[in-house]
Amino acid sequence: MAVNGSPELLIVMGAHATAEQVDEVVARLAEAGAHAHVTAGKEATVIGAIGERELLATLPLEGFPGVEQVLPILKPYKLVSREIAPDPTVIDVRGRRIGDGYFGLIAGPCTVEYREQTLATARAVKEAGATMLRGGAFKPRTSPYTFQGLGVEGLEILAEARAETGLPLVTELMDPRHVEAVVETADVIQIGARNMQNFILLSEVGRAGKPVLLKRGPSASVEELLMAAEYVVKEGNARVILCERGIRTFERSTRYTLDIGAIPVLKQETHLPVIVDPSHAAGRRDLVPALARAAVAAGADGIIVEAHPSPDEALCDGPQLIPTAEFGAFADEIRSFVALMGKEIG
Ligand code: PEP
Ligand code: MN
Repeated sequence: MAVNGSPELLIVMGAHATAEQVDEVVARLAEAGAHAHVTAGKEATVIGAIGERELLATLPLEGFPGVEQVLPILKPYKLVSREIAPDPTVIDVRGRRIGDGYFGLIAGPCTVEYREQTLATARAVKEAGATMLRGGAFKPRTSPYTFQGLGVEGLEILAEARAETGLPLVTELMDPRHVEAVVETADVIQIGARNMQNFILLSEVGRAGKPVLLKRGPSASVEELLMAAEYVVKEGNARVILCERGIRTFERSTRYTLDIGAIPVLKQETHLPVIVDPSHAAGRRDLVPALARAAVAAGADGIIVEAHPSPDEALCDGPQLIPTAEFGAFADEIRSFVALMGKEIG
């Protein structure tokens, strides 16, 4: 359900609080003209109170039976914050999971170029143990003179790859005019780095019934990424996966600078799963395995990696694509790091 207004107070119920006690708090908030956002956790239920902070402060919520603690939510992001949801969010996509102990291994071409290229990549990454297939049909390209993606035809090819391999699809939405077509085909709607602060698009996917993969803008702070996710969740779509994909710094030896520190920071700040894109961060395939291992070790909930049957012939991002012939060895190594972290492939 969409949330109208900003959650300002956090009401933490005791571990033994009953459903009636939760209902009583919710009813008292409603009586005062406020709203409640209730999250039932494994250990405790947390109620986010939505309304004027001054008004909420006048309510004697601490004295209600079952209430353990009442705290202000001081951060600008509310619904995505760690405080409001006691347990990490696990996102289930056609039976594949990301979050908490489940690691997502998302792989596929940068771009859907033609049918055989996409199907061959899908088969190879499936064989290697990938949990989802990535691939862009609508491509955000720096140059207007380069291949812009196959559009709707690309979505059809992706759907065929899913039908054959069973892998759920992650594909990018760039334009609110394409919402219907992309939402219909995608299992996860990717919002690319360049659109991280396209607030109209964010609200639009917030109303879509599919999980969203939100990539960090190359010049966006962690807080701005969380605020962008807040736009989506506020509209009622709580299934958001955050993605660190490298930020722009003075360094030129890699395409972007992978902000490894953002992973533990995000894991502290939000209950949403956090994944890493080592391909766009590195821009060079020889560095992708090292960045992917670092992501796993830093606590990421997954990686999204680009692969291609013949990278030299690729229409987009050739230097960073892992040849499908090498993807199995790459995935094996990642799997052992995932196990080392006490997680399983989701
Ligand atoms: C992509 O994943 O295809 C892509 C374009 O990435 P980014 O938005 O992170 O540049
Ligand atoms: Mn790419």
